[in-house]
Amino acid sequence: MRGGLGEDPFENLIMKFFRRRKGRESSIDVVKLRQAMGEPGCPICRLVRESEEWHLWLLLYEHSGDPEFHRRFSRSMGLCARHAKLLERIVVQRSLATPAAAARFYESLSAHAREALTNGVPRQNCELCRYTENTARRYAASQAKLLLSADGRHDYQRSSGLCLPHLVLVEREAGEEVRRYLRRDFIARLVKLEQNLRELQRKQRYDVHEELTAYEASAWKEALWRFGGMEFDELLTEEP
Ligand SMILES: [Zn+2]
Ligand SMILES: [Zn+2]
Repeated sequence: MRGGLGEDPFENLIMKFFRRRKGRESSIDVVKLRQAMGEPGCPICRLVRESEEWHLWLLLYEHSGDPEFHRRFSRSMGLCARHAKLLERIVVQRSLATPAAAARFYESLSAHAREALTNGVPRQNCELCRYTENTARRYAASQAKLLLSADGRHDYQRSSGLCLPHLVLVEREAGEEVRRYLRRDFIARLVKLEQNLRELQRKQRYDVHEELTAYEASAWKEALWRFGGMEFDELLTEEP
């Protein structure tokens, strides 16, 4: 595993849920990437989000009584707005992640913050943001590896492709040949996107009475995630 992630207790717990099988040609990340490429939108955005959901669920379900996790959570000054919102969704929608578990973490944090405030205003360093960065890098490395094979490229071609932020990440992990392939592919996707964006505008004119295709109608939404990365309204994972 890259970047010492195997030492991360969260990561270890998450891996337990995906029954890692050693000695198989494909790593679990590559298998998950292939599955994610069959779903709409950027596969890395999707897998990172799934991973965030697991992380928070495990924090609440498995570790709300663990002093070490409380210390880590308190030292980081809690979650950023985006990840706090995700935690809220998990507490509301999952029966095993309870409001009491969230309350335990934030009670510890509040006591820690009161003490820290006597020496100045503490800065937040959201643990889940750091985790997310590492996870995205790990999937980017697997995506780069996957794109070395004709099979991987075939799957990628049929997928929605990457968002720009994850294209940048995969490029960093890829060799020159894969980088060239990715750029050519991204340019081709943008050419199609522009055609659809143009048709969307043209067919919305009052004097044009032509039906929009599904691609044209949703082109503006694709543009939003293609350049900004994806956000998901619903939880992507199921409670185990
Ligand atoms: Zn993405
Ligand atoms: Zn965060």
